[in-house]
Amino acid sequence: MTWRSRAGCLGVDTGIFYDGLPGLAKKFCARCPVRAECLVEGMTERYGIWGGYTPDERALLRRKQAIKEGRRAVTRRPVSLTEGNKPK
Ligand code: SF4
Repeated sequence: MTWRSRAGCLGVDTGIFYDGLPGLAKKFCARCPVRAECLVEGMTERYGIWGGYTPDERALLRRKQAIKEGRRAVTRRPVSLTEGNKPK
């Protein structure tokens, strides 16, 4: 059984998730038991409501995630002290 078979929008006209008026779609998503799974899959989708998020909202989530991962990468970067970059 996949998460899609438990979707809160199962059997609903999918047009409401793509019509540019997200209010009704978001009402389905708010009570959906597989919202997290849907959002994960929808993070790479350019159109429609996924996990209760519009494309612009998902883009913002991606940017926040990228910033967080960037900070982690910077703080984890090993420091090599060679002659050229030793503190004076
Ligand atoms: S979160 Fe919304 S779009 Fe995703 S499966 Fe649930 S009701 Fe459908």
